[in-house]
Parts: sequence; C-alpha cells; structure tokens
Amino acid sequence: MKIYNSLSRVKEEFIPHEPGRVSMYTCGPTVYHFAHIGNLRTYIMEDVLDRYLRYSGYDVKRVMNITDVGHLSGDSDSGEDKMLSGARREHKSVMDVARFYTDAFFSDCKKLNIRRPDAVVPATDCIDEFIKVISSLIDKGYAYLAGGNVYFDTSRLDRYYVFNDFSEDDLAVGVREGVEADGNKRNKSDFVLWFTKSKFDDQELKWDSPWGLGYPGWHIECSCISMKNLGEYLDIHCGGIDNQFPHHTNEIAQSEAYLGHKWCSYWVHVHHLNTGTGKMSKSSGEFLTLSLLEGKGYDPMAYRLFCLQSHYRKSLLFTWENLDNAAAAYSKLVARVAALRPSGGKTDSETFDGLKRRFCDALDNDLNSSLAVTALYDVLKADTDDGTKLALIEDFDRVLALDLIKAAQDLRDASCKAETHPSDPDSPEIEALVAERTEAKKKKDFARADEIREKLKQMGVVLEDGPAGTKWRRI
Ligand code: AMP
Ligand code: ZN
Repeated sequence: MKIYNSLSRVKEEFIPHEPGRVSMYTCGPTVYHFAHIGNLRTYIMEDVLDRYLRYSGYDVKRVMNITDVGHLSGDSDSGEDKMLSGARREHKSVMDVARFYTDAFFSDCKKLNIRRPDAVVPATDCIDEFIKVISSLIDKGYAYLAGGNVYFDTSRLDRYYVFNDFSEDDLAVGVREGVEADGNKRNKSDFVLWFTKSKFDDQELKWDSPWGLGYPGWHIECSCISMKNLGEYLDIHCGGIDNQFPHHTNEIAQSEAYLGHKWCSYWVHVHHLNTGTGKMSKSSGEFLTLSLLEGKGYDPMAYRLFCLQSHYRKSLLFTWENLDNAAAAYSKLVARVAALRPSGGKTDSETFDGLKRRFCDALDNDLNSSLAVTALYDVLKADTDDGTKLALIEDFDRVLALDLIKAAQDLRDASCKAETHPSDPDSPEIEALVAERTEAKKKKDFARADEIREKLKQMGVVLEDGPAGTKWRRI
C-alpha cells in the first residue's frame, strides 16, 4: 500500500516498524461541544484507513485521546481552556461537559460505522505520565521554567518546522490569535508543556506537580498517550490538516527530544470540510451536526458515502445539493443491492478476484476511496451471477462500512410491508406533499423542501430520492 506522508510530502510504500502489526494514533475530539460534520469527515476517513489495514491482514492497534483539558481557544497557548468555556456556557462542571460530549461523539461514530479505537484515553487520566515526560525534558535541557510555566525550548532542535517551512517572523502569534505574545517564551515558537499561570486563573481542574498546582498543555497529551499505549515507535499518526501546525509539529518536537530517536513514520492528514465561507469550525459557532442532518431526514450512511466519494487529501465543499446527490446515490445503491438474489451456487472466483483487485488497487493508491466506490458500482454492472456480486459487496463493505447488505434487507422488508398494506389512508395527502416538495426543489426552494420532509417525517413517512423520482414509505 502507498500512502502520502505529510513529513516527506510524497506517497510512500507503507512498511510498519514490526512486520504484520500496525500502531496507529488518532487525535481525538475536544469535548466541549458536539462534533461537527467536518470533524466527522476526518474520523470517517481515518476509519477507512484503519479498516483497510485490517482488511489487508494487519494486526492494528489504534489509540485515541479525548481532550478534556488544556486545549486553549488559540492553538498557540493563548486564550481560555475550551473546556472551561463549554462548562460556563452550559452551567455545568468541566467533567460533566466532557462526559456528555464524549458520549455524544461516540454515538455519532456508531451511527456512521466508525470503529471505536482499541484504546480511548482521556487526557485527565494521564497526568502522572505528562509530569514524568516533562520532568525528563527539563533534565535533558529541552524545557525550561519561566513565569511559573514550563516551556519547550524549540531552539534546541535542528529543525522544528518539520511540515512547513515557516519563518519565526511569519508566526506572529499575537497578531493571529488577537492576544499579546507570551513574554516568558525564549523563542517565539516555544510552547507550553505545563501551565501554573495563565491569564485565566479560574481553570477548574488543576493538579499538583513539581512546578506547582497547574494543568498540562494540549500537545503533551497526545505524545504521552501515544508513547504510553503504543511504545517508542509509532507507525501512523492521523488528524485533520489543521493539526499539522502547531499541534503535530510540537508533538514531534517533544516526543523525539524525550525518546532521542525518530518517533512516528507516517503522518496522515485529512483535509477540511468547508462551507461557502471557509472551514467548518466549532469556534465559529456555525456548524452542522450529524443529529441536525438526521433531523432533516438524511441517513448517516448518506453522509458517509458523501465523504467516501472524495479523496481525503482534497478539501470537500459541503452544500445541501451535494448531500442530496449523495443521499439519492445511496438510496439507489441500496435498491440495486436489494434487487440481487442470492444464487446459492459457487462464486465466480475469476470475476470475484478481478473486481477485488480493482478495489484494492484503488485503496492501495493513497486510500483512493472514491475509486473504491467506483469499484463497487463495477460489481453491480459486472457480467456475473448475483451470488458473486453479493459476496463482493459484503467483502468491500468491511472497508466502506455503508451497511449495504443490511439496508438492502431492510428495504426488502419495508416493501413487503407496503405490499401487504396497499391502501394507506393518508396517501393522497402524502402524495400531494411529495409532489410539492419536488416542485420546491426544482425552484431551489430548499427551505420549503426541508420543511415538507420534516412534516412527512412527523407523519411517520420517510422519503427516498432517486433518479426516477421520490419514493415514500412508512417508517
Ligand atoms: P477538535 O475536536 O477541534 O480537536 O477536532 C477534532 C478533529 O477534527 C481534528 O483532527 C481536527 O483536525 C479535525 N477538524 C476540525 N475541523 C475540521 C473540518 N472543518 N474538516 C475536517 N476535519 C476537521
Ligand atoms: Zn493530538
């Protein structure tokens, strides 16, 4: 398999540190709010990578942190802890907020068929580990105390900006974050490992440390949680592209200074989900959640397909029209799978192997999920028996995780039910609303179209948009 490595900036052959085994670390969510569908794009694409490695026979161990302390509103050690602002917004304690949004995150992941990592570790469970690593960095001369905080000294490194070639002057922390630069730092690019002093002294959670009562910086948590659970040599580290700098740059600096050797071999970054006005972000307050899409009648699998249809290294533009297209494509896909009849005979192994090769070739080439979806359509078009097609679809769905076989069965069950109740008493009203919605969509009056979909949903009716028009059925 070839994968693009953000460190070398080329596609590289994937060779794990230990043959047959893969250690994989994923930056987890900052749990002060719901994950938005942009965050979920990153987790869907990381899930495809995780699933494809397992499908290819690797023994994968995947670890994810939960950021429940230390992620400040500015990534460069400035501003207030995001968890604290979440707690204040909701009049709850930080831990209550963390618990609530951690559960909400995994509930979204479940709906999107995102596998739960083998280990999920909240930062607040690892304070002793952070203190151990920070103490060692001080002993080795890589970290210093100033103004009550512990800082990493980036001037001790031969090369700090490993992903991008910034110059220190370009960094302009104070300007970018709208706050003053931290006068305690010896170099502009130094970053905080442990805070005992910040402008926001009402930090709710603080721990004893050799440097006083305080709390860890955001970057140290991922380094420590990864090294503790996955050892000194990490194969793959993933995250969204915005994590490259400063978060991942700082992770590399402190982990390699601590270990004394190269730490992680492959850095995989998923590009952003954008709206018309730029990156979807929690801090802007304007973001879409999976529950909101569901409320409008979209199946989470339609959103998963929407993400799979584009390459993870390209930014993806979210529009309702694009999502409608994915929803229609998903319904059609399920209907085509539902029309296949298991043949019970032997699978056509030559066709099976040929189509599977096409699927693997796509994913072996830097996880080209969009071509892998095309390979799925090739299966439906193939000149072979339905049993072979179903076997291939089931096989591909171990990676694509679109629930195709189950959704097809549900559709068959639903049409059986509809056939036994041919005269729905509300059907004239339903038909009229469906027709009105089709008209509204033609006129690009999506607000009215959404309103009608919602109204029908409340009447217990779901809509399936397909190329032949809109079908409705009872939930
Ligand atoms: P956060 O909860 O803010 O720490 O972010 C969780 C993950 O989502 C990180 O890997 C981010 O890089 C990623 N992320 C943030 N915004 C977006 C976006 N608009 N599109 C895709 N990924 C994103
Ligand atoms: Zn991280």
